[in-house]
Amino acid sequence: MNAQMKPGQSGDFRLLIGGKLVPGAAGTVDVINPATEQVVAACPRADVAQANQAVAAAKAAFPAWAAKSIAERRALLMKLADAIDAHTQELAPLLTQEQGKPLGGAFFELMVASANIRGIAAHDLPPVVLKDNDEAKVVRVRSPLGVVAAITPWNFPVIMMVTKLAPALLAGNTIVVKPAPSTPLTSLRVGELCAEIFPAGVVNVIADANDLGGTLTSHPDVAKIAFTGSTATGRKVMASAAPTLKRLTLELGGNDAAIVLDDVNPQEIAPKLFFAAMVNSGQVCLAAKRIYVPEKIYDAVCAELAKIASAAKVGNGLEEGVDFGPLQNRMQYEKVKAIIDDARAQGKIIAGGEPHAGPGFFIKPTIVSGLPDSARLVCEEQFGPVMPVLKYKTLDEAIARANSSEYGLGATVWSASNDRAYEVAMRLETGTVWINKHLDLPPDVPYGGTKQSGYGVELGQQGVEEFTQVKIINLAK
Ligand code: NAD
Repeated sequence: MNAQMKPGQSGDFRLLIGGKLVPGAAGTVDVINPATEQVVAACPRADVAQANQAVAAAKAAFPAWAAKSIAERRALLMKLADAIDAHTQELAPLLTQEQGKPLGGAFFELMVASANIRGIAAHDLPPVVLKDNDEAKVVRVRSPLGVVAAITPWNFPVIMMVTKLAPALLAGNTIVVKPAPSTPLTSLRVGELCAEIFPAGVVNVIADANDLGGTLTSHPDVAKIAFTGSTATGRKVMASAAPTLKRLTLELGGNDAAIVLDDVNPQEIAPKLFFAAMVNSGQVCLAAKRIYVPEKIYDAVCAELAKIASAAKVGNGLEEGVDFGPLQNRMQYEKVKAIIDDARAQGKIIAGGEPHAGPGFFIKPTIVSGLPDSARLVCEEQFGPVMPVLKYKTLDEAIARANSSEYGLGATVWSASNDRAYEVAMRLETGTVWINKHLDLPPDVPYGGTKQSGYGVELGQQGVEEFTQVKIINLAK
């Protein structure tokens, strides 16, 4: 970073390739503030040659980085966590402007990002002696893979970036990061921080116009792809990685069910369900996207949810007191509006749902009751602040309906009885089930999707090991 370019203080953004901060050879892409529809900044756009240069730089840096001890690599990751903490005052408003989330949410994202780096870096990859007897000593070591391509979405740009970068680098790999084209700015600033900390080429950050993902996923010198995004794009990534048999971690879409048992107090449960569905304006892969409530308390839960939704303040995330910002981009905004229109025709909108006049991609928290399971809001991933509340008669029926999805990312179960909830959790076909809480994702606990929600895990010891190759050293005695 040069002397004038401090994170968030300058409108000048640069790609990081081979240790150098450079402009985009393909020009720039305007990044739009979703609250105002005004341009936040012109983001440098890499061309294919620069994507290839970034991979070449990562490949060249790999041997020396892999040769460092894990303690040395950990120490530099800790410096990155400290640098993010030291720059939150500049980074948070930038994140709010490009992503839309309220400023408090932006500070929270940065705090989770640095905590994740520290938590992930605390892991170790020691050799394990599998056997040591008269005939042989067999040791399992974990070697790095090489160049990792990290491709991230627009809902939590910084968390998604560092949750791939930290385990990749800790394990001895080098990386090329490509953020989503609608939220690249904070990632580029984190790239500038990386430029001051890591040897040239260890971390490279490029930005595109949604056109360079394929270059990375098919590149013969990329060993692994760590991807978070939609299931549709995940399928393309997998196909593109097949010819060179790249390792993959795919964190994809979800349509998480929340199952409410009949022993809860509607007033107590409603704010928790509301948070589970609406956090980050519902733009969370693990948000509760279908709420199953027993007949007995259905009307009471619906009424409580409608009350909370009607009181929520929606607005520009830079303003004080705003609970929810806009949706991140126009395409998502139009998609969610169409899903609401479909829901209006088939069920009852009991809060929100009104059209928004004026600039910005705002949708008020919307609660819908009485929908059939065939409605788009129930069977598709809405990825927005719209919550279908569905009535069930028996718990078996609720579990069957929850499981009848191509997705299987997360789920929540809400009950006064941990034992009853645990039984339900055991029957849900998802990678994570939370009981009486939501989105608890500490860096020492892995998460990942079943079915078409993903492939592999992030976080935890396993999340780090996914950036390694098992290697066996088998000595004759
Ligand atoms: P997306 O799939 O459109 O884009 C994700 C990234 O992939 C972007 O960087 C994009 O530029 C890139 N990309 C686009 N086409 C590509 C291609 N052919 N090859 C390689 N990369 C390509 O997803 P999005 O709209 O940015 O994010 C929303 C989706 O992400 C939702 O479905 C959500 O559930 C999912 N998500 C999942 C998790 C998780 O951990 N499981 C977390 C956050 C978001």
